[in-house]
Amino acid sequence: CGVFGVFGTPDASSLAYYGLHALQHRGEESSGVCTVDSATGGFAYHRGMGLVKEVFTSDILASLPGDRAIGHVRYSTSGASQLGNAQPLVFKYRDGDLAVATNGNIVNAPSIRRELESMGSIFQTTSDTEVIAHLIARSPKDFVSAARDALRRIVGGFAFLIMTNERLLVASDTNGLRPLVMGRLGDGYVFASETCAFETIGAEYVRDVQPGELLILDADGLREERFDEEERRASCAMEYIYFARPDSDINEVNIHTARKQMGRRLAVEAFVDADIVVGVPDSSISAAIGYAEQTGIPYEMGLIKNKYSGRTFIQPSQELREKGVKMKLSAVRKIVQGKRVVMIDDSIVRGTTSLRIVNMLREAGAAEVHVRISSPPFANPCYYGIDTPDRRELIASSKTVEEIREAINADSLYFLSAEGLVESASVPGDSKGGGLCLACFNNDYPTPVDESSDKSCSC
Ligand code: 5GP
Ligand code: SF4
Ligand code: MG
Repeated sequence: CGVFGVFGTPDASSLAYYGLHALQHRGEESSGVCTVDSATGGFAYHRGMGLVKEVFTSDILASLPGDRAIGHVRYSTSGASQLGNAQPLVFKYRDGDLAVATNGNIVNAPSIRRELESMGSIFQTTSDTEVIAHLIARSPKDFVSAARDALRRIVGGFAFLIMTNERLLVASDTNGLRPLVMGRLGDGYVFASETCAFETIGAEYVRDVQPGELLILDADGLREERFDEEERRASCAMEYIYFARPDSDINEVNIHTARKQMGRRLAVEAFVDADIVVGVPDSSISAAIGYAEQTGIPYEMGLIKNKYSGRTFIQPSQELREKGVKMKLSAVRKIVQGKRVVMIDDSIVRGTTSLRIVNMLREAGAAEVHVRISSPPFANPCYYGIDTPDRRELIASSKTVEEIREAINADSLYFLSAEGLVESASVPGDSKGGGLCLACFNNDYPTPVDESSDKSCSC
């Protein structure tokens, strides 16, 4: 999912609209914006199913007055694709209105929820983001202390924007799993899942929100504190590999540059002689350019994506997913015919996409198809908000590289090493794991996780 926040800038709802539009790739299922007018404390919101440009019209934006806003784009996860789970979630509590927008997943939400329900809380949604609102609302302490306590209780990967009539709170989990950046726009502040949203609205990047940090913005301005100690930094590797937009920077590392480096490294680790390098659009183009630069093999547009179909992984069912791939990609016959092709993709999750693309290239006349993947084998599910299937559906959880090669019908297959990935992303600092979460590759989760718990994303 994607979050966007504005504090202290007129026409906050329009800024949120443009910011969320820039974050649309992070979720296409629903969109929402909530605003506060600081002069009156007045609260307004609108949410709907669909893309930002479908959910909001100029009339709707005009009905959301104010100089503060939080917004959200959500992607579908197993089951809970319904308007009731669209964010920001909005509540009435004893001091007024409360809105919450999250990117991520709270690992211990089910147990906290059971506990709160046994004490009488009535939950309105199936979204685990709701637990933070209940924890805050039940506390006898002042709002900021209650929020601090609530943030300390939850475990997982999350970037939170929490807004009341008086305040905006911004928080990142203690491992910094989910990206969140702060910027300035005029006298105001802006917050976003990715820096590309700042570029769109002409805001200036200030810094990444740090693990365990809590930022409090109110009539007195910005207060920077923490709700807990920073634990080992574990920035989500999949953001670098696949999820984030190439023009964004995370931890001040540009995503396109990191991906290109992954492609260069793949070429060093697993060179194969070929006539052309082809990237699977859009997310693997940067890595394919890197592979081509490193080897001198020309980069070619051997695959074309129809820009009017959504990301395939956003479609819920396997059946739709398989149809989606055909809808989305075509091989360029005149380019690949008779060629030995190195096909670069960012990841193999179930393996169905790779098989279809390899076959597509073969049907278009490719003489050989060598697959190079710019991440290690994806063998473990994510509990921190990236939508992945159950372990048993992950092809790398049960098959060797050679078995996967056979399953996807490739002439050869190689995955980038974990060291190659870490060095390519070059996250500053010297944390274990090179500052990255690599759990879906190496099963080393930065927080306690419960394999039986619901890992579907709350956002
Ligand atoms: P699969 O192997 O499941 O058929 O699809 C892999 C493709 O899905 C890759 O090309 C990749 O771009 C995309 N993908 C990347 N990350 C994820 C993810 O976290 N979840 C899902 N479902 N698909 C992803
Ligand atoms: Fe990202 Fe994988 Fe860690 Fe999930 S498990 S946060 S997808 S690196
Ligand atoms: Mg892809």
